[in-house]
Amino acid sequence: MNLLKKKILEEGRVEGEGILKVDSFLNHQLDIELLNEIGKEFKKRFEGKKITKILTAEVSGIAIAAITAQYFNVPVVFAKKTESKNLDKETYEGEVYSYTKGKTYKIRVAKRYISSDDHLLIIDDFLANGQAILGLKQIVDEAQANLVGAGIVIEKGFQEGGKLAKEANIHVESLVIIKEMNCGKIAFEENN
Ligand code: 5GP
Repeated sequence: MNLLKKKILEEGRVEGEGILKVDSFLNHQLDIELLNEIGKEFKKRFEGKKITKILTAEVSGIAIAAITAQYFNVPVVFAKKTESKNLDKETYEGEVYSYTKGKTYKIRVAKRYISSDDHLLIIDDFLANGQAILGLKQIVDEAQANLVGAGIVIEKGFQEGGKLAKEANIHVESLVIIKEMNCGKIAFEENN
């Protein structure tokens, strides 16, 4: 996606430990025009697949999933990171290890929002070490639902998430894959 690559090159900021900040269009301020193009591209990449719901994790996946869902005409369910009084007691859970925080946390979806008849598409902003996507897969598996695949906006190809997702048999479609970000310079993998 050339538009996305252009935006990353113009506005992305590389921070220590291989973190790419895209707050001006994806993670804080939202570029809705770009998000619509992202939604259309995911629709194209998963054309012909049966999808009944989009699954993401709060917070950063929600906006992308919501706009993408308009092109699939399906609801979005987002996994919650905090246990709250508002969340049903009956939940499916996944575990996510955060490398940045050095700890494992749980993500939860109320059982009433995923059934074994569902065909779920995971949508997320980044694929880095693959922990978020694997935690979401745990939820799908626990619900005995079908996982169609995962649509990722930015995959950091130099981290192990892509490999782990492949080993877990998840069909990943990443709109851009970053090969390296050495000295603040971003290089993309071609042909994705
Ligand atoms: P993973 O579990 O694949 O390591 O990444 C999980 C989450 O961490 C992503 O959904 C994203 O929210 C966040 N993340 C990972 N790497 C980056 C990054 O380079 N930049 C930003 N902004 N978020 C990231």
